[in-house]
Amino acid sequence: MPADTANTGYRGVWVFIEQVGGEVAPVSWELLGAGRQLADALGVELAGVLLGQGVAGLVTEVWAYGADKVYLVEDPVLGFYRTAPYARALVRLVKQYQPEILLLGATSLGRDLSGAVATFLGTGLTADCTSLTIDPETRLLEQTRPAFGGNVMATILCRRHRPQMATVRPRVMPMPSRQEDRRGELVRVDMAFNEAEARVEVIEVIEEKNKAVYLDRAEIIVAGGRGVGSKENFRLLEELAGVLGGTLGASRAAVEAGWLPPEYQVGQTGTTVRPKVYFAIGISGAVQHLVGMQTSDVIVAINNDSQAPIFKVATYGIVGDLRQVVPALTAEFRRQLV
Ligand code: FAD
Repeated sequence: MPADTANTGYRGVWVFIEQVGGEVAPVSWELLGAGRQLADALGVELAGVLLGQGVAGLVTEVWAYGADKVYLVEDPVLGFYRTAPYARALVRLVKQYQPEILLLGATSLGRDLSGAVATFLGTGLTADCTSLTIDPETRLLEQTRPAFGGNVMATILCRRHRPQMATVRPRVMPMPSRQEDRRGELVRVDMAFNEAEARVEVIEVIEEKNKAVYLDRAEIIVAGGRGVGSKENFRLLEELAGVLGGTLGASRAAVEAGWLPPEYQVGQTGTTVRPKVYFAIGISGAVQHLVGMQTSDVIVAINNDSQAPIFKVATYGIVGDLRQVVPALTAEFRRQLV
């Protein structure tokens, strides 16, 4: 059992700034927004941690999104993400500067890195949090996430070890506004890396062509569920999405029926989305679906059952048969938008 580190002077909130090829994953900015609130509640500094090669140009962006400080480690070995050197860099920074909270995006990279870092540090890690708050009395991080198949929300505390580590999926937290002229402190840390310790060699990077869907970045999503009834009926949703410049989405039932591929699934075991407008069409509103879309700005539900739970989270509800409602909406939007 690792030694108790809760009362040994760990202070400050850190966000790991995930970048690939110099492009920052938007979830890192979202986490800076959440981290700012936590740091203010604790009365401590918010810092971003930037690892890579040739990434110093991103430092001003990290300040602009709310960090007071940036820890920057640059090295050719960090040029491509590989677990061992990234974990070593982050672990060393944590041991040296001792933050009380460390947040990472629940992307594939963040999930890989957070597990390794938490293990090396012997601390706890709460994955896929949907809310992060501070208990003003104990100063502990309250890490809330769905548990037991999404049927309860559990709040998890890491009382005895530091840092308190959590991951959050893209789009769960709102995007903070960017403050152009905001400046902070830069702490450049030199570490000696050698290529052999990376253990993995990057031979070639192949850009993914025809990248399926960026549901988590879509501004308008037209999602269908079991109520759509068939693959052919999804044409109706496709037409609506086409008129609005939106993206299709699906409930798990629609994916399991084979009407859309799995990358379109919204929800607990799919993607978390936060569009400006989310159409839930023939979707009942199971909790596992709701956790993936209920923070959308506007939710339009179309369902022939007026008691469907989706109406509880809907901004606008239309009770009716989707086969009549959806074409009527498409025609009306087409008329308005042309
Ligand atoms: P149903 O619940 O069958 O709802 C269909 C709706 O369509 C009904 O409300 C019905 O009134 C309406 N309808 C029918 N005909 C029409 C019509 N002609 N016009 C208008 N409305 C009509 N689900 C997800 O979506 N995403 C997840 O990530 C996810 N993860 C899960 C993880 C776990 C561990 C578990 C246990 C479940 C998960 N599920 C997930 C499944 C979830 O519990 C529900 O089973 C699923 O969301 C139901 O999909 P649905 O709303 O499309 O279907």
